[in-house]
Amino acid sequence: MKSILITGGAGFIGSHVVRHFVSKFPQYKVVNLDILTYAADLTRLQDIEKKTNYRFIKGSINDTSLVDKIFNDFKIDSVINLAAESHVDQSILDPDKFAKTNILGTLNLLNISNKYWKKNDTQRFYHISTDEVYGDLGDKGYFNEDSPYKPKSPYSASKASADHLVRAFYETYNLPILISCCSNNYGPDQHEEKLIPMTIKNIINQKNIPIYGDGQNIRDWIFVKDHVNAIDDIFHKGIIGETYNIGSNNEIKNLDLIHQIIDICDEKMNNTRGESAKLIRFVEDRLGHDFRYAIDNTKIANEIGWNPSTEFKIGLEDTINAYFTKFII
Ligand code: NAD
Repeated sequence: MKSILITGGAGFIGSHVVRHFVSKFPQYKVVNLDILTYAADLTRLQDIEKKTNYRFIKGSINDTSLVDKIFNDFKIDSVINLAAESHVDQSILDPDKFAKTNILGTLNLLNISNKYWKKNDTQRFYHISTDEVYGDLGDKGYFNEDSPYKPKSPYSASKASADHLVRAFYETYNLPILISCCSNNYGPDQHEEKLIPMTIKNIINQKNIPIYGDGQNIRDWIFVKDHVNAIDDIFHKGIIGETYNIGSNNEIKNLDLIHQIIDICDEKMNNTRGESAKLIRFVEDRLGHDFRYAIDNTKIANEIGWNPSTEFKIGLEDTINAYFTKFII
């Protein structure tokens, strides 16, 4: 029996995590705390909202009295912290918001966990982070858990700061923490501001598809359900105080990814294959645009036994099918 506070559970990854824990572990109580920013959507969780082991609470991770009350009322013994401002472009426009939620919000959760928990073997403060904390790579090499932190955007800097605070609470107060740093997620229910859903939507509507710079930047894409399985495994089997990198060995140049999406969508729309490539527009590069991310999965594979299981082509087709249903209706 566990009582888990999942923050940011109305977001893209958070909603998949909430559904997974509520459905797979009916003996656990799951409390979803989300302030419902523009990126949130509670309809993502319609299928589980009536389950007796699930509660949604609208509010902020920065709200000390609310989080305190949740810990008290629900006897919270674990936190999975996904609440965040998550879009790099937005962080360039408004870094303060990112510092407030991603750093100070996480600090608030740490303080309250530390106040309530008389340390025992069952408690977990599991913080969900990103490979972007490591900065970027040239043509070669991979991020592993010993890679130095070199965040380059206000978003990644705020995530890196939060990671340092989480580790400091382990070192200083012995708070039972876990951290994972994951690569770029894709899958159903991602907000349309992100590259893959934006591209699918623009193809359906035959609107221009903007690509930063020359489209040669490389990302290591992971299907969201593989990330969720990794979170489950780390939550249950991870060693306290440790960080685990999560990736799918699936590096693709942005431009190649767009062409793959175009080919699948054109086929579904009965267009000539590749026809929608005419919509591609190269636009001024993102400030400080990271060139390449790539994750070394060795630690999580060897120590936890997790490996990604979704072939990229299958995951991408699933994702495109989900957005066709959503954007066309
Ligand atoms: P998202 O933007 O889709 O969801 C974030 C959620 O957090 C939203 O529902 C939002 O309402 C909520 N939120 C924001 N501020 C809050 C606050 N103050 N209090 C409570 N809730 C708040 O983001 P996502 O893509 O699902 O990412 C989830 C987490 O995973 C983030 O911490 C992100 O840094 C991390 N991550 C994301 C990726 C990715 O590719 N999307 C990769 C690695 C790590």
